[in-house]
Amino acid sequence: MTWDEPLIFERSRKGRPGLRASRPDVEDKLAGTGLPAGLARKNAPRLPEVTERDAVQHFTRLSTWNFGLDHGFYPLGSCTMKYNPKINEALAALPGLRDLHPAQSPESVPGALRLMLELKKMLEEISGMAHVCLQPAAGAQGELTGMLMVRAYHEARGGARKVVLIPDTAHGTNPASSALAGYEVKEIPTAKNGVLEAATVRENLSEDVAALMMTNPNTLGLFETNVAEIADALHEAGALLYCDGANLNAIMGITRPGDMGVDVIQLNLHKTFSTPHGGGGPGAGPVGVCDQLAPFLPAPVLAEADGRPVLQWERPLSIGKVTAYYGHFLIMVRAYAYLLSLGPEGVRRAAALAVLNANYIRACLKDTYHLPHPDRCMHEVVFSDKGLPNGVITMDVAKRLMDYGFHPPTIYFPLVVHGSLMIEPTETESRETLDRFIAALTAIAAEAASDPDAVKGAPCSTPLSRLDEVRAARKPVLRYRFPGDAGE
Ligand SMILES: *Cc1c(COP(=O)(O)O)cnc(C)c1O
Repeated sequence: MTWDEPLIFERSRKGRPGLRASRPDVEDKLAGTGLPAGLARKNAPRLPEVTERDAVQHFTRLSTWNFGLDHGFYPLGSCTMKYNPKINEALAALPGLRDLHPAQSPESVPGALRLMLELKKMLEEISGMAHVCLQPAAGAQGELTGMLMVRAYHEARGGARKVVLIPDTAHGTNPASSALAGYEVKEIPTAKNGVLEAATVRENLSEDVAALMMTNPNTLGLFETNVAEIADALHEAGALLYCDGANLNAIMGITRPGDMGVDVIQLNLHKTFSTPHGGGGPGAGPVGVCDQLAPFLPAPVLAEADGRPVLQWERPLSIGKVTAYYGHFLIMVRAYAYLLSLGPEGVRRAAALAVLNANYIRACLKDTYHLPHPDRCMHEVVFSDKGLPNGVITMDVAKRLMDYGFHPPTIYFPLVVHGSLMIEPTETESRETLDRFIAALTAIAAEAASDPDAVKGAPCSTPLSRLDEVRAARKPVLRYRFPGDAGE
């Protein structure tokens, strides 16, 4: 690796451009008529002048500084950074799919609508929900869509109600989505064993409660065993059960939220259904609902009439469209390809392996790192830094893992565990990779005792070591200043 790559502006040499455009040989008809004078540039932009060779080398080098799934193990809890098979990319790049224009009429894209309809049916089958809508562009937008339907449902029955109950193990997007949908959030505690009890829900129920938002499996990696009883309690009080289904990879093909009494759920195609994510790329967060909520689904609703896919716009109670055009179609193509290539048995096996891998890590590290909830976990396992010697903390362990060639796990989340290390291996990692990772974490725990400075000073294999993360987020420096330029 080359770590001493300068900025592209520092590579620039006057008079060494990579491209020379010839002067136009037609008269400039727009001269003097186009841009208002005040908006025209007075000076040419100061672009770097580098050859094509320099530009290619520069960006290729920078690309190797980024740690991606194709580099190695990425056990970022709750994010499901599983390997995305390249065949899904190849299929999404087929010209007949890739080159469709979003503004094309439904009549001109029957094949694309058919693909969406088939995917929708598969997701209905997997989630056990009566209707799935593919529109939302991310998990959080799926949550908002779901909560807007919850509101519309209550309004149609006489009043929106005021409060949404959320357990203390919730993903941060849950309270945010409830608040955006106009609800007051009330946090409720989970029991000592990390799961929510029906009695706690009952104590907090009233005529003001619109819904409970529950992540299952929850962010401690535990299955919410009381979900059916909780659903009953909510329904008796006229409230609904929202399930955050971003972690469906732990249960798909094995059990179904719809069968547990869940009324509304979002799925993350870009986690569970193996489409690339991270870095703000497109995703998709389809939302599934029970029959009672179907009238409120975003229009247009994708349905089948005379064996053909159709888009239904006449939906008087719909909350309205939530995404431009058809949603993120090429993400749907990838998820469809993934599901077809796995088949029902493969889907079940993927979930089983996700759970097996997390439990393998749990069992191998439980005597080395503190395990606040020692029960069998689902797709992820949460350790903490409690008891590490010489003041070594979670942040140090995470940074030191980088020196061993691994992406750090999610840290300091969920908030209910102090100093948490949340590890999600996913089903796509081999036994050998898991063993190397376990060996690294074991070695770091030993270093914490024998050579704590090595851990506290980590990482030492990266060009920069510990950045001021708060300042990096609050005061980002995004602009190059040419030597001699005044600061502003
Ligand atoms: C990732 C995640 C979300 C949010 O999904 P985005 O697509 O990032 O908006 C919500 N809940 C849980 C449990 C998640 O893991």
